Amino acid sequence: MSNEISDIKGHVVLVMAPMGSGKGTLIHHVLQEYPTLYQTISCTSRAMRPGDVDGKQYHFVTAEEFDKKVETGDFLEWAEFAGNKYGTLKSEILPRLAECEVVVVEIELQGVEQLLNILPREHITVVYIESGGWEVLKGRAEARAPMSDSDLEARYQRYLIEKQSKPMADIVINNSEDIDLAHAEFNQVIEAAYAKCKS
Ligand code: 5GP
Repeated sequence: MSNEISDIKGHVVLVMAPMGSGKGTLIHHVLQEYPTLYQTISCTSRAMRPGDVDGKQYHFVTAEEFDKKVETGDFLEWAEFAGNKYGTLKSEILPRLAECEVVVVEIELQGVEQLLNILPREHITVVYIESGGWEVLKGRAEARAPMSDSDLEARYQRYLIEKQSKPMADIVINNSEDIDLAHAEFNQVIEAAYAKCKS
């Protein structure tokens, strides 16, 4: 079980998208389709939300525990986002990459930039999921639950940050019109990642 960057043989599919773009559903779809595909579970200091399960969406830790892991070099990357810390544990990703696995990583922009600096570029595919502009995402969020003006403003600021990641993508998947096409395009990305692992 190697933790060395030089032993990487597998492939990372880095998925970026504004909140509300349906990336969770798309990722769920490929995880069902490809049983050996693995989505890394990050560590976070944010409070658990209703429905969160420790070890499922995240490994939930205290701010102190998170800082300790930073000190001991447990993270491949980590970042602060909206007042909370999030990080990818080396143990979640490097041993799998050494074993030629394909892993899906869903993190925010600062983390993506770090991973692009740390991991060999030929072992990464960056995917951006697009799903309409702010008006569409806002409409969807409001339809789900009423939002205060300050919540809406916070979401808008987050959207502005998240959409900056689009130019970094190798592949942009449009998830606003034809969902079946979006699924098929995502499947192709995963197939290509597996093909790169074998070659
Ligand atoms: P949330 O708190 O809504 O689950 O996630 C907030 C943001 O943190 C999302 O944009 C998500 O992609 C990002 N995130 C989740 N895990 C990680 C991680 O391990 N590293 C970094 N840099 N960002 C992460």
